[in-house]
Amino acid sequence: MRTLFLSLILCGAVLTTWAQKSIDVLYLTGHTDRYHSWQVLSEYQIALLNEAEIFTVEKVVLPDSVADIPVKFSDYDVVILNVNEVKWHPRLKKSFERYMRKGGGLVIVHEADNAFPEWKEFNKMVALGGWGNRAEQAGPFYYWTDAGYVTDYTSPGTAGKHGRRVPFVINVRDTLHPIVKGLPDKWLHVDDELYGDLRGPARNIHVLATAYSETKSGGTGKEEPVLFTVKYGKGRVFHCVFGHTKKGFDKSLRNIGYQIVFVRGTEWAATGNVTLPLPQCELSTDKPTLRSLEQITAP
Ligand code: ZN
Repeated sequence: MRTLFLSLILCGAVLTTWAQKSIDVLYLTGHTDRYHSWQVLSEYQIALLNEAEIFTVEKVVLPDSVADIPVKFSDYDVVILNVNEVKWHPRLKKSFERYMRKGGGLVIVHEADNAFPEWKEFNKMVALGGWGNRAEQAGPFYYWTDAGYVTDYTSPGTAGKHGRRVPFVINVRDTLHPIVKGLPDKWLHVDDELYGDLRGPARNIHVLATAYSETKSGGTGKEEPVLFTVKYGKGRVFHCVFGHTKKGFDKSLRNIGYQIVFVRGTEWAATGNVTLPLPQCELSTDKPTLRSLEQITAP
């Protein structure tokens, strides 16, 4: 109650709720490429989940070899993948596919959609991915225009591109979806990598928000999907394509908009619903609202 009260008056303690039942989260991490830091991302994301007070997080750092960890996915309501360069044993892949088909939850942020380019079912789960030799065989490009969504099967080219790290406006496309309901239609995100030209099966995808990737900063010149959900069997996937992190760079994670959609997206992937309240602080297109790791973890 104390933290909820504070959330009503401070922009600080924003992600708290009355919800009683704990959501069991399996946080799988380790092995991002040299352009990213799974350590920095883990620290932020787990701090945000702990702050929300509705999650119980188990963090597992995957081994160096081909991962075949004795994990029972069905013990968890949602799995967060903070990996890209990692190999899983076929047994682990099959077990995860079963979990998802039966109604599991999955959260993918930024570089995690570069993972497993050869794993067909994973690519169905994430709907769109980049790099890792993904090209025409991976599926169509998928982006937004004023006339609607374009599923482009004909243009050639590899998957995955981003320009320089610049601020960009998030354009919410489904204002009624629980993850983004109550947020402004547009809000400014901080300097970050805006992934574009992603490719994938792009099936059962539901876009919550897009952002324009400017050519003047090296982007695609397209309105790219940046927040979306994917239905896989009875499972739910929340995919956030921004949130670049490396050692010494965590600015993207300090944007309160990112923090809100990450925890709400995790709750939605776990349960199909969102009970976490929105903070009282403003998101706007004028300037981003930032909150550091120290502020998140402050007692
Ligand atoms: Zn990145």
